[in-house]
Amino acid sequence: MSRKHIVAGNWKMNKTLPETQALLASLKDKKNTGDAHVIVAPTAINLQASVTMLQDSPIQVAAQNMHQAESGAYTGEISAGMIQSIGIDTVILGHSERRAYFHESDELLAQKVNTALAHGMTVIFCFGEELEDRKNGKHFEVVESQLKNAIFHLTAAQWSNVVLAYEPVWAIGTGETASPEQAQEMHAFIRKTVSASYDEATADQVSILYGGSVKPGNAKEIFSKPDVDGGLIGGAALNADDFFAIVNAF
Ligand code: PEP
Repeated sequence: MSRKHIVAGNWKMNKTLPETQALLASLKDKKNTGDAHVIVAPTAINLQASVTMLQDSPIQVAAQNMHQAESGAYTGEISAGMIQSIGIDTVILGHSERRAYFHESDELLAQKVNTALAHGMTVIFCFGEELEDRKNGKHFEVVESQLKNAIFHLTAAQWSNVVLAYEPVWAIGTGETASPEQAQEMHAFIRKTVSASYDEATADQVSILYGGSVKPGNAKEIFSKPDVDGGLIGGAALNADDFFAIVNAF
């Protein structure tokens, strides 16, 4: 089964408007030599400008987060409707930094996922174990429970709008990467878990991205694994040469 390859850049809280425009201009000049679909997720305040700049480009824009409610008294938050109203239909949910610093639980994430999907948006759903979990041999258990609690309530049909991003917390921004074998082992486990809760067709079609210190030097080997369908890239997404070296690892 050939699944969609995706390389998504999570810019986090980096880049002012001029810096965003400069990076997007460089990205637009790059040649995509492979078959990866390219997504960038700038900070919320620069989403509108990014959509405008990428109007004539195959590079897609995603939001890094959204609130679960339709609208209302949630100072500082942005809604699915707001994101969609500027032409964006993809949102990253469940990033480990949202879980750690903003206390986003699986239950809250389930609500956010429901809202995004009810709007017809695509969700890039992030999850992954902490270092302690892996040291204690609990990584499979933790990942399975994150999936079960936050997205396994969805119908099989809804999975066509879900992309999974396995991001071991110990590998995010640390320079430490899961080995290609560790990534493949977990991705195969995730696909098997989806298959057991749904069916083989659902598991076969879902793209599972790996995230955690993916760099130009290690992307090819990680992406060569059969269950790794792409990457969610943090630090290396802030440099056009590095990001496209990763995009072109497919
Ligand atoms: C991320 O934040 O999703 C990430 C994978 O970061 P980095 O590539 O910097 O480890």
